[in-house]
Amino acid sequence: MTRNERPLTILQLYPRDMNIYGDWGNVLSLSRRARRHGYAPRLVDYNPGDAFPEEVDILVGGGGQDSGQSVIQEDLHAIAPRLRRLAEDGAPMLVICGLYQLFGHDFTTVDGEVLRGIGIFDAHTVGGRERLIGNIVTESEEFGRIVGYENHSGLTTLGPDVQRLGTVVKGEGNNLEDDHEGARHRNVIGSYLHGSLLPKNPRISDFLVEAAARRRYGDFAPAEIDDSLAERAREVAAGRPR
Ligand code: GLN
Repeated sequence: MTRNERPLTILQLYPRDMNIYGDWGNVLSLSRRARRHGYAPRLVDYNPGDAFPEEVDILVGGGGQDSGQSVIQEDLHAIAPRLRRLAEDGAPMLVICGLYQLFGHDFTTVDGEVLRGIGIFDAHTVGGRERLIGNIVTESEEFGRIVGYENHSGLTTLGPDVQRLGTVVKGEGNNLEDDHEGARHRNVIGSYLHGSLLPKNPRISDFLVEAAARRRYGDFAPAEIDDSLAERAREVAAGRPR
């Protein structure tokens, strides 16, 4: 089998209910990136009630309204054992905002409704009265500067068993108290950054593709990719007022 024939299955979690502020762009961007690195991406949608595919290489999930989170909650718990097994096995995942919150232990909405999360991240989220909206820049040791756009009212606090994804340089991130943004457990990344995140942060795409390739095929030989356009987009976004 030549390198070009190696498939990678990218599963989009709940695109019907959890897919706002450009999150769909993450899947498109990731799929192009995988192709550039020489893989054959296969995109699969997973909505409530669907059969969960046998082979999954990368999982991507987006944000949603509190109501969307409520709709998918039961199904998310039905597939949680699969998701936890995949996470512990090193499968790469990227979950944004609403699904990031539900990958934690729980999300208590501003009305007091408790949405149970699946606990992949040691994190709790509480709905706030204020929406945190605007351009955001964070720094991460692994990915360098991460640039995006946040729009949420949920306030997330990380516990001791999870790491932050980045440290906030501009914007709010997880909450109003500390400077943490996002979460990281094994190869699972959670973040509040929409935008979409991946077109402006190709290092995260590369991380997801590399982790998937190494897990499935045991190796990864990155292609040289010209990121000058992404670099310009990052500069413009990072320079915008909050
Ligand atoms: N409903 C959640 C919040 O406002 C998630 C929002 C989102 O996914 N953008 O915190």
